[in-house]
Amino acid sequence: MVAINSRTAIFGGTFDPIHRGHLHLITEIVKRNLFEKVIIIPSGKPLLKPTSPKADAASRLEMVRIALLELPLEIQDKLEICSFEVERSESSYAIDSVIHLKSERDASFTWILGSDAAANLTKWHRFEELQELVDFLVVLRPDAKFVLIPGAHVTSIEIDALALSSTEVRNSLISGKEVASAVPVSVLKYIERNGLYASA
Ligand code: ATP
Repeated sequence: MVAINSRTAIFGGTFDPIHRGHLHLITEIVKRNLFEKVIIIPSGKPLLKPTSPKADAASRLEMVRIALLELPLEIQDKLEICSFEVERSESSYAIDSVIHLKSERDASFTWILGSDAAANLTKWHRFEELQELVDFLVVLRPDAKFVLIPGAHVTSIEIDALALSSTEVRNSLISGKEVASAVPVSVLKYIERNGLYASA
């Protein structure tokens, strides 16, 4: 067991690819000093998305790893990447990750998600059980209103979220538009080197 009684945030996502909107969120959460640790979990096979991730799980994990290296050291110090979902061969749900993390550390957990994802929250696998295990912190995104979920421990936070999405990044890559302002240079190089997102 590590980090006795620490307040730990979990930030899960497809990260297909990770972009500056994600990095801004992570940075703002760390700066506010609400948590001792922020654990970033790239998903394996997400189930609530209409389409499968375009990049394989190992590439998405690697892009997360190299993107986080671009953050200031005092931010990086508070971050941890969890490859639990990526390493599972079966579909994986938030509840599985939370149970896994709880088995290895004594901490209180808060699941961080954007207001677009929060609109689907009650449909998450075993939501009733999940909400007993974690609080939720909803980051307001420009195009997605936050709707309160009765009964769940949900708070919202305004971080001046960037109007950026992975979908936009993928579409820009396909149509040859510049993405340097949306993803770190190291991630862009990784994408180019590995021929990711070359077609729809
Ligand atoms: P896609 O366009 O493929 O749906 P996405 O950009 O929403 O992807 P995800 O990996 O699905 O990225 O998101 C992981 C988490 O990050 C979700 O909770 C999502 O709401 C949040 N998120 C994504 N982009 C932003 C952003 N620009 N600002 C704040 N939160 C974001």
